Amino acid sequence: MANGNAQQKLSGTDVVKARKGLMITPDLCIACRGCQTACKQWNKLPGDATTNSGTYENPPALTAHLYNQIHFIEKPKDVGIDWLFVRRACMHCGEAGCMDICPAPGALFRTDEGAVAFNKEKCIGCKLCVAACPFDVPRYDSDNKISKCTLCSDRISNGLSTACAKGCPTGAIRFGSRDPLISAASAAGYTVYGEKDLEGLGVMFALKGDYKEYNLPQPTYHAGIALWNSVIRPLSVIGLGAVAAGALIHYLTIGPKDVEPDETAKKGGE
Ligand code: SF4
Ligand code: SF4
Ligand code: SF4
Repeated sequence: MANGNAQQKLSGTDVVKARKGLMITPDLCIACRGCQTACKQWNKLPGDATTNSGTYENPPALTAHLYNQIHFIEKPKDVGIDWLFVRRACMHCGEAGCMDICPAPGALFRTDEGAVAFNKEKCIGCKLCVAACPFDVPRYDSDNKISKCTLCSDRISNGLSTACAKGCPTGAIRFGSRDPLISAASAAGYTVYGEKDLEGLGVMFALKGDYKEYNLPQPTYHAGIALWNSVIRPLSVIGLGAVAAGALIHYLTIGPKDVEPDETAKKGGE
């Protein structure tokens, strides 16, 4: 299914008429975390208990209750530290591996504005979307249901901006139609990360340097998802698909399961 034919993709954005998105400009971010707070407030997400890990970054990663996190990159210099602040959240990929791998119809879906949203009632907690996401985004709540940014679908479908963009005091998060966001960033001299990758990311970055300096990954559609869609998904009707795909995606993304030495000894000794 990941053969470049967008019309056949389960996750493709070809049905979206007016695709909305975000442009993130790390240069403008002051790490106030107003966006984290605005997101929690709008989505009624509780706080997470954290510990001091020796950096100002807090919490250190996305959680089921944190859809939007500011990642701190610290670069020591002769005197003091240079910081880069990089927002982490769902990228609302045009070609969304999470949607393509999901065996539960309607658990993940594309909104009219191009966001990738979820329906917890339909999620079966299989966690295949975790393995298929190149950005390490999906998290699970205490009921084992998916939890992630929805691009504030309930707001943008009513003509509002996302809560994080509204709460950002510096313009580091801008919300709007995707094409004008790209034009404005390019005109300001930035390189746009995510303009064309994965049929265009819904969340893009305006960068002055190489994307690797911002700890951003190369957006990748895992090869195993294509096999899942063409070969293994049909098996799901007889209840074999999810287990087989889990093993396959694990193998392709992480590698073969290591056998613990004591496990080997036990097998050999019995
Ligand atoms: S970033 Fe991950 S969870 Fe978000 S749409 Fe892309 S694949 Fe899905
Ligand atoms: S778009 Fe909405 S749900 Fe997503 S990070 Fe921003 S405030 Fe949170
Ligand atoms: S609200 Fe804006 S400036 Fe503050 S941390 Fe978020 S992106 Fe950065």
